[in-house]
Amino acid sequence: MAATLEIRDLHVSIDGNPILKGVNLTISQGETHALMGPNGSGKSTLAYALMGHPAYTVDRGEVIFDGIDILELEADERSRLGLFLAFQYPVSVPGVTVANFLRSAINARMKAEDPDSPGISIPEFRRLLKEKMDLLGIDHKFAGRYLNEGFSGGEKKRNEVLQLATLEPKIGILDETDSGLDIDALRVVAEGVNKLKGPNLGILIITHYKRMLEYLQPQFVHMMMDGRIVESGGPELAEELELHGYRPFFEKYGIEATED
Ligand code: ADP
Ligand code: MG
Repeated sequence: MAATLEIRDLHVSIDGNPILKGVNLTISQGETHALMGPNGSGKSTLAYALMGHPAYTVDRGEVIFDGIDILELEADERSRLGLFLAFQYPVSVPGVTVANFLRSAINARMKAEDPDSPGISIPEFRRLLKEKMDLLGIDHKFAGRYLNEGFSGGEKKRNEVLQLATLEPKIGILDETDSGLDIDALRVVAEGVNKLKGPNLGILIITHYKRMLEYLQPQFVHMMMDGRIVESGGPELAEELELHGYRPFFEKYGIEATED
């Protein structure tokens, strides 16, 4: 059966300030969802809360993944269950290459499924990594780069998409950077995700770029405003945003406009 991530009435605060005010969203394996919304609406807060970031306090609600309430779990336990959460600001890890990192992540996941698992062998890992880099059009040299050390925005995104491809999560959540993505980085994410789409992968892509949706063609589009998902629909919602921006929705929901 397809795994499902079910976010129910999620309320999250930061330092006592309520940010998410009742988010409901269900994502299943095989589905592509886009979460849009103006700056400051709470999109990244949702990603951090799902990741289990300690600064984000869950005040109410539940998040059920594959039948398990993940809010009780540590971040690494969430990822071992098959939930992939890319960090919005990937930290640099000195002395660890892209390949080292991926291999330990795969091993951790295999050991979580079977404590006696010897992990992935080096030849098997090399084959897997090569296959995924070829699929995504990533230069093989990239695997030897030190994680995030001097990565450009596009390289950070390439790394995320490569992680998504090799870890083969059931559900992946990708948040854009606040500083924004250049066209190259945007294309890396969109083309990579397009290649990885399939019945075993559910995706939530968080973006305020309408351009991303043109590349990605998600089946489901959601719009967040002031800590809630106020509209959900299909590609027509993205088209409406393309035509009129967020302004009509600010008026409709009586929310003070931050920016368009
Ligand atoms: P988005 O990703 O949609 O642009 P965020 O989730 O980053 O929005 O932010 C939602 C709100 O939470 C904003 O008003 C922002 O100022 C506030 N916020 C985000 N991070 C923090 C933080 N670390 N401390 C206090 N307030 C924060
Ligand atoms: Mg954000």
